[in-house]
This record gives sequence, C-alpha cells and structure tokens, in this order.
Amino acid sequence: MGIPRFPKDNDGSLEKRLIPEVLQWSIANGLLLYPPNFEIDKPCNAPTTLFPTPFPKKSFQHALALQTIYNEVYAKVAQGASDDWLVGEIDNLAHFDPEFTGRLWGLYLKAKVQGISQKISLGVFRSDYLLDNEKLEVKQVEFNTVSVSFGGLSSKVCELHKYLNDSGKYDMSSKDSFYQQEIPVSDSDLKLAKGLAEGAKAYKTRTGKPIVAFIVQNGERNVFDQKILEYNLLRHFGVRSVRITIQGIHELTRLDPNDKRLYYVPTGEEIGVVYFRAGYSPSDYLSEQDWENRLTLEISFAIKAPNLLTQLAGTKKIQQLLTDSSVLERFTADSSSLEMLKSSFVEMYPLDDSDLGRKGKELALKQPQDFVLKPQREGGGNNIYKNDIPKFLAGIPESEWSGYILMQLIKPQPTTDNIVLRGREISREPILSELGIFGYVVFDDSNILVNETAGWLLRSKSSSSDEGGVAAGFGCVDSVVLY
Ligand code: ADP
Ligand code: MG
Ligand code: MG
Repeated sequence: MGIPRFPKDNDGSLEKRLIPEVLQWSIANGLLLYPPNFEIDKPCNAPTTLFPTPFPKKSFQHALALQTIYNEVYAKVAQGASDDWLVGEIDNLAHFDPEFTGRLWGLYLKAKVQGISQKISLGVFRSDYLLDNEKLEVKQVEFNTVSVSFGGLSSKVCELHKYLNDSGKYDMSSKDSFYQQEIPVSDSDLKLAKGLAEGAKAYKTRTGKPIVAFIVQNGERNVFDQKILEYNLLRHFGVRSVRITIQGIHELTRLDPNDKRLYYVPTGEEIGVVYFRAGYSPSDYLSEQDWENRLTLEISFAIKAPNLLTQLAGTKKIQQLLTDSSVLERFTADSSSLEMLKSSFVEMYPLDDSDLGRKGKELALKQPQDFVLKPQREGGGNNIYKNDIPKFLAGIPESEWSGYILMQLIKPQPTTDNIVLRGREISREPILSELGIFGYVVFDDSNILVNETAGWLLRSKSSSSDEGGVAAGFGCVDSVVLY
C-alpha cells in the first residue's frame, strides 16, 4: 500500500473543519494541558498533530520488542550486578556534577548507612528512538528511568486520530483520503497504571491496602497525563493514590522509626509505592528540606519508582558505557538480545583520558557537526549541538569534560506534511518524530519479578528545533499510522 499520504487540503477547508473537531474531542476526552500561569478550571487542548505520522511497521515492532530486553538490562544495572559496577561509575560521575548527580549519590550513600529497608524496586521506563533515515532502523536517543511522561496523553492522541479517521472527518468526498492502514492505540494509559498496581501488589502491607503516592512538581502543567494514570489505577486495579510535592513530604507523610513504613498523614493510609513525577532536575529541590525529604522516601519501606540507584542508572554516562560490548555482556547473556540492543545504538564517546575518550575529544573538536554533547541532566534543554560544541568545551576546564558524553547525531527523515495544532494556532512546518516505548519492571536485589512493555508515545517537533519537549513548548503529541 506504500507510505500513507496526508489527506489533500489545497484550499485549507479540511484544516478549518478539523480544528473544532480536535478541540472538542480533546476537551471531551481529556487530551489537555494547563497553559503557563494557569487557573485550575482553565486547561487547554494539548499540542497535537492533526494527522497520525506514517511509521514503518517493522521498525515500530522492533522498538516494542526491544523494551523488555532494555527493562532487564537497566534493572540488572540498578541491582548492582557485576560487582557494584554502577556504584563505581556513579561515584566517579558524582564529582563532575556536584549540584545534581553528586547530591543524589550523596543521598544514596546516606541511605545505605541508615539501611535500605526495601529490597524491591519498581522501574517505570521509557526508551526513546529516532528512525534512522538510511537503514530505517530505530536508534536509541536515550533511556529514561525517572518521571517518564505522556503515557496517559499518548493513548488519547491515538484515539483522537483513530476517531477522525473512522468517523470520516479527514475527508468527506474521497475514499482515498482515509487511512486504510492501521492507526494503533497505545495502551500506555492502562499499562502504566498496571505497572504501579504491580508495585503495590509486591509491597507487603501491614495495615490493609497500600496506596500510591505520586510525587509531583509544584504548578505542574501536565496534570491530566498523570490523572489518567490515577483514575485507571483506581478503576481497574482498586488502588488509591495521593499527590504530594517534594516540598510537602515532611508534613504529609510520617515514617515509622521502627519498621520504616511510610504513612500518609491526612488519612493514616500506608504508602506502598512512591512514584516520582518530579525530582529529575535540581530545580525540583528548592531547599535542604527537600533533599532531606527525598532521603526519607529512600530509606522508607515503600517501593520507590524509581529508587536512587535506578534513577542514576538512567544517566547518559551509563547509556554510553553500555554501548561497549564488554560492559553490555555483563547484563545480558543472550546473543539475540545483544544483537537487537546493538542494532539500536549509535556511536557514543566519553571525553576522558581513555583511548575511546581521546577519540571522542578529537571528534568533538574536528567533526562537531555530526554530534551532540550531553551532560547528566534530564528534562530537555541541556544539550549542546553541532558547531556549538568546540566553543562550549573551550569554556570549561578539560578536567570537567568527563562529565559529558558525545553522541553521534541520528539523521532522521523529516516528515513534511503534517500540521501541528498548539492551542488554536496552526503551524505547517516540517516535523521530526521521536518514538518512546514505555515499560515497567519489578525487581529485588537478585531477581526480576515482573517485566512488561507498556505502550508507546510519538512526540513530534519542528525539524528546525534541536529539542522537542512537549510541555516545554517546542513539541507536540502525535500518533503513528503503520505501513
Ligand atoms: P533529555 O533527557 O533532556 O530529554 P535527550 O537525550 O532526550 O535528553 O535529548 C533531548 C533531545 O535532543 C531529543 O529529544 C532529541 O530531539 C535531541 N537529540 C538527543 N540526542 C540526539 C541524537 N543522538 N541525534 C539526534 N537528536 C538527538
Ligand atoms: Mg529525551
Ligand atoms: Mg531524558
């Protein structure tokens, strides 16, 4: 059938007809975000594309198949398999980023002294990919182990596009303008809730039904994405949840000093799972009290999603180290899994004094147009691209370069025809899409107890911008039409 084409819209009438449809569907079904400086009752439609973006079915299925393999690798890294390999690497990295990686590492060391009371950990992950233009293979951009978002809204935007297609809204006159190919709907809205429920199930409660505490940012704009998980958690799995900011933890929770169980003060309920939708960036910690609060959660008997080591396993440095076969082989022995993982890697280099590091330094200075430089931070807006790299490196002492990794730029094919709706504003710029696959894994210090794929997310951005955060304003949620 070939690559699905976007419906023709020569006179702009289709676009005019679709905008009110999208706005009404979004409001009716909760495909919403809060605008900056919002009022509680004034959300707006989340930025979306008007059409699903064509994606090769084989590459899509390959990305889905990779997820449980990646889940297992990162769970094993976080378990501290192979002689505490992670601990050594993070200890080293902590010196280069004292404000964040160093602080999280310091908390882990303190927690270890006080005793890690809960051996079970919950990983709620998202592996992000770009489709390489030449081989049509998915290449990993990064692996996120903390606060992965858009699992709720992703299901909604898939349903929106499927509705527009199935109801005939894409074109009234020509049968050719409908998508004959599959517009699949991501089940991330349900599966991520299931992941949290699996965490609650693994928790050995003393008092009754454990609840899930969502740790959220003050003034969070992406609330509905989180609420969808909360609603599904209760409706489908009978698990209650509460929302607490990092600033509110010491007032709203109580840690039993004897058995380290954590309770929600207003109701006295036992918190079985602490699910972080905040805490991935230093700006989330406003005072020393906030760091203390994170420590309290870490030493508590509640299952953390993620605990500190699992969060730290998601640093770009660990991703870079895993591209070395001798490192990767410590975490997965299966040869077909290894081949699949390797097919998703692009070149990554440290910028240290090793042989590979020296090569990385040379490439960063002589061939920067092919690379992106990344610090150990999350949440978008931190990377240095292409020809900005040499100037940036010249501005910091060479001894600090090891805190960054250098990554080959994936060259994806821009999709030119889709249309982005942000608020009521339309933009018709060429877009690029990043596919994220969700997964969850429940593990203790030596076993993997549950390991599942949990749907996907397609995020698209204008191809002229290097980055693509949806909430940050330069991206939108999209869905796939498979071919
Ligand atoms: P963050 O944790 O801040 O999201 P990412 O590694 O995802 O960091 O980088 C942010 C964005 O930069 C990505 O969404 C992608 O648009 C772009 N990017 C990152 N790495 C690459 C790469 N190797 N090739 C092309 N674009 C990249
Ligand atoms: Mg990212
Ligand atoms: Mg990230």
